Amino acid sequence: MSASPLLDHIKRRISLSGPISIADFMHEALGHPEHGYYRKQDPFGRSGDFITAPEISQMFGELIGLWAAVSWQQMGGPAKIDLVELGPGRGTLMSDILRAVRNVPGFSDAITVRFVETSPVLRTHQQTAIMPYGVPATWHEAFDDIAPRAGVPMIVMGNEFFDALPIRQFERGDTGWAERLVGVDATTGDLGFVRGRETPIADALIPATLRGTAKKGDIFEICGPAIAVADQVARRLNDTGGVALFIDYGHPHSAFGDTLQAVKAHEYHPILSQPGDADLTAHVDFAALSRAMLEAGARTGAVLTQGTFLAMLGIDHRAELLKADASDDQAKAIDLALARLIAPDQMGTLFKVLIGYGATTTPPPCISGAEG
Ligand code: SAH
Repeated sequence: MSASPLLDHIKRRISLSGPISIADFMHEALGHPEHGYYRKQDPFGRSGDFITAPEISQMFGELIGLWAAVSWQQMGGPAKIDLVELGPGRGTLMSDILRAVRNVPGFSDAITVRFVETSPVLRTHQQTAIMPYGVPATWHEAFDDIAPRAGVPMIVMGNEFFDALPIRQFERGDTGWAERLVGVDATTGDLGFVRGRETPIADALIPATLRGTAKKGDIFEICGPAIAVADQVARRLNDTGGVALFIDYGHPHSAFGDTLQAVKAHEYHPILSQPGDADLTAHVDFAALSRAMLEAGARTGAVLTQGTFLAMLGIDHRAELLKADASDDQAKAIDLALARLIAPDQMGTLFKVLIGYGATTTPPPCISGAEG
């Protein structure tokens, strides 16, 4: 037995049935019920493996709360609304939202929180985080497990949710596309990447707009579960009315490239060496998410950068207000957090924002250059 029961389990699976897809590997590494990365620990924060926007500053959640409140008002201020968060982590974003909207007449009373979260450890954190606000909340394994309620629209949000979902990679060979798989190296016994066979089925998965420009060695990534969730959310927004806000790092147009990465203790880490002990993510293809929502009949805005989105919501003004009551050290920390969230060389440009809304819903704030 090696030090890692999950590594042994994956190797055994491969020795029994052959190389597995990268999606299967990610599924084991992140979601294995006992040893999966998100199942066994709290990976967030300065002492954890990475830090996300809501953990950097309260301004992030407060401004999203404002966006949600205005969206609700533009829907006519319905008496009930489901506030859904996909992959809520420690619950920091939701608690900042609930605090920020406390004084919006009628909104807090209308809210039922719906958390989509698979990790039992993180569910406990989420429950503690929102306890002070006394808002009813339920937890769900998957978005589609949230039962629709007649006449109750939804506000659906997700920050760094899609990047954690399993991707498949396809590599362009001499004549066609083959899936990149994870196998076991016969000499070293370590996990390694191998190429499957070129098949016409793989060809059909590459968007027609890109297929003609591909060169040998190009890699295309597909996140089936992300597209499925975007489709489910879009259908729900059409049925019950509502809006969606997805924030993640990724690209506004579908493109070639290998973006799979592992991060442990704020450093890049070899992808295959310690499954379950490092976070694994891939860049989100926002064009694919937007396409899925449009094909389901919902509408989407142009993909924005996080910097543009937060500027539109007035983050500079919010920072000034916070600094007015702050000590010198606190004011410096606020400026650093502001730069981290919006500066082009930090999170401001790499992180993107996609807003969707139901076919009969009034467009929410920050829809510019609407595509559909
Ligand atoms: N939104 C949070 C956390 C992002 S990390 C933040 O910004 O800080 C990804 C989150 O998605 C974690 O809460 C993780 O447990 C959850 N998650 C990962 N895969 C999931 C899945 N398949 N279904 C539901 N939640 C998932």
